[in-house]
Amino acid sequence: MAAGTLIASSMFAAHAFDLQGHRGARGLLPENTLAGFDRTLDIGVTTLELDIAITADGVPVIHHDAHLNPALTRDAQGRWLQGRGPLIRSLTLAQLQTYDVGRLDPGSAYARDFPDQQGRDGERVPTLAALFERVKARGADQVRFAIETKIHPDRPDESPAVAPFVDAVLAAIRTAGMTQRVRLISFDWRTLRRVRELEPAIETTCITVENAQRTNARHRVMMLGMARDAYPSVAHMAKAAGCAAWSPNYQSLDAERVRAASALGLQVLPWTVNETADMEQLIAWGVDGIITDYPDRLRAALLRAGRSVPAVGAK
Ligand code: MG
Repeated sequence: MAAGTLIASSMFAAHAFDLQGHRGARGLLPENTLAGFDRTLDIGVTTLELDIAITADGVPVIHHDAHLNPALTRDAQGRWLQGRGPLIRSLTLAQLQTYDVGRLDPGSAYARDFPDQQGRDGERVPTLAALFERVKARGADQVRFAIETKIHPDRPDESPAVAPFVDAVLAAIRTAGMTQRVRLISFDWRTLRRVRELEPAIETTCITVENAQRTNARHRVMMLGMARDAYPSVAHMAKAAGCAAWSPNYQSLDAERVRAASALGLQVLPWTVNETADMEQLIAWGVDGIITDYPDRLRAALLRAGRSVPAVGAK
């Protein structure tokens, strides 16, 4: 190999690692909030990962659950929700803004999962437009966005259908001028197909989960009609679906699967990796990025591995 090629490829590798903050930095600050995204930019990531729901009045907002989650939601009187809250789809943006999502209920199992998460009382479910504005205001012009469409074909009451869902998200992306800085990501690959049809410049990431309890790879609607058994691996399905990247649950990976998916030309971006030893293993296997609730830990692991890390976000 020519020396120039070596230098070029090693430079690419040095800059390519995609350090993704999951829901911002869920391990540190309330998930999917502007305060959390601010902290994530302070730490320094390549990509902000976030989830999208659509309000009753058609506004894309950043939230993981279709229903407001009682473990992290208080009403206008400051009381924790008792049981599952209303569907975001049933609330206008104005109604949704009356809820506080800035702290975990200390009595919840969820709070025990994230003992280091600090509260930020008063945080609201942000709009996607508001996050774009915040990032622009900080001058964080390099950071990218992995935007997850939360939709499920078996629960059609929980969100708009594929077309209106994707169209609302795409409108927000275009209005903000962010087409070149976003990827759409989803377990439900129908949304990814639609965005590529409407805006081929937007790359997509096919997410999969494979474990003893569940796999989306056998859901024919989510998989665009593809049958799992007709493909050697779920990575082959992601490739056939037209995705640039494949995002598997990290527990389903091994060195050979990373190698095989890379050989298909897919970026491999495992989720959600929170333990340093797992990060180090995946980096050694050659994944292209990692999605983590603790981007601070991942930065440290990358530096120890001699890899470059993204610039800290501008203020
Ligand atoms: Mg997500």
